[in-house]
Amino acid sequence: MTGIAINGRSYRAPVAPVVVVCVDGSEPGYVEKAVEAGRAPFFARLLSAGTSIIGDCVVPTFTNPNNLSIVTGAPPMVHGICGNFFYDRESDSEVMMNDPRFLRAETIFTAAQAAGLKICVVTAKDKLRGLLGKGLALGPGKACSFSSEKADQATIETNGIDRVVEMVGLPVPDVYSAGLSEFVFAAGVKLMKSWRPEIMYLSTTDYIQHKHAPGTRVANDFYAMMDRLLGELDAMGCVIALTADHGMNAKHDATGKPDIVFLQDVLDSWLGAGRARVILPITDPYVVHHGALGSFATAYLPENVVAADIVARLAALPGIEVALDRKSACARYELPEDRMGDIVVVSSRHKVLGTSRARHDLSGLKEPLRSHGGVSEQRVPLMLNRRVALEPGRRYRNFDIFDLALNRVQERIAA
Ligand code: ZN
Ligand code: ZN
Repeated sequence: MTGIAINGRSYRAPVAPVVVVCVDGSEPGYVEKAVEAGRAPFFARLLSAGTSIIGDCVVPTFTNPNNLSIVTGAPPMVHGICGNFFYDRESDSEVMMNDPRFLRAETIFTAAQAAGLKICVVTAKDKLRGLLGKGLALGPGKACSFSSEKADQATIETNGIDRVVEMVGLPVPDVYSAGLSEFVFAAGVKLMKSWRPEIMYLSTTDYIQHKHAPGTRVANDFYAMMDRLLGELDAMGCVIALTADHGMNAKHDATGKPDIVFLQDVLDSWLGAGRARVILPITDPYVVHHGALGSFATAYLPENVVAADIVARLAALPGIEVALDRKSACARYELPEDRMGDIVVVSSRHKVLGTSRARHDLSGLKEPLRSHGGVSEQRVPLMLNRRVALEPGRRYRNFDIFDLALNRVQERIAA
């Protein structure tokens, strides 16, 4: 085969199996601290003999926009996925954006499949599976796409594979657990042995990162688990390329309470109750670990209100890092204009944005809040277990990870 061309980029066919890993919420420092603690021998070798750089993810620094950027090699203005939710003006309703019909670009996976390659996609949460697997012809020995959350429900028809739980040899984990991500890596190891796909994509959940900072015992346990299973893939000759969908920061005050700017309350006080509509694109069916509190919001304004006036007033509020009108925000962050509100608001490093005080149930938050969404969570690692040819001075993005893994790896170690 010759290569893969998709979304304006081209990729060489892999010589060894390529495993791209998206570690959800893996702020720079998690891997390094686990190595320092002597818990991660594979990562220690990677840091000394492979490649480790810091790049930027996509803003809003949320899971779905970034996973889709990674697997399309393009920003949200190209693929269309800019959050978990958007407000559809025509139907006057808030619509979940995890339906594959909202994805506007083809993935690297479908292009690679058209070039004759075998593909395996494994995610922790099922909400991503449909988007990542869109357009793949699924079937044994061809392509599979499944989540650990619903591993026991995988069928040949829907997922290209069945009997996943038996294959992995672990029980289906709880959706709020480190086990959900461990299952992803364990499945990856088994699939590499049995299917040996040319391209594998593993995507975890940030359950641990929302609760535990880099270097803490629980975080180090998590990265030690990952190290052990990635070490097995390394021993099988795989090119392993790891990045993150976004970073993570503490978002609480000195007493441990979440530090929140209630944006709907602010706009209500300026414009009248309910006249503006605040959308928090972090909102999803799994809110226990972040209480739907992140650092990015968009808002729809009443028709007679000038966005520039509101933006100027918001920008002057403490805790607001950026406030922009739609056009400026979409240009700066490469977002699709038709799925964003009239204004975009980003809170500062240790603050989050809420709607109204009354609408947030924070009873599920047991630990001091850590979250993401803003510009302050944009730094992410890009790590490979090979040396790669880097372009000096270039701003690398997490969605360059397939380019690095397929086009820039220098040493081709025979599998
Ligand atoms: Zn995430
Ligand atoms: Zn998260």
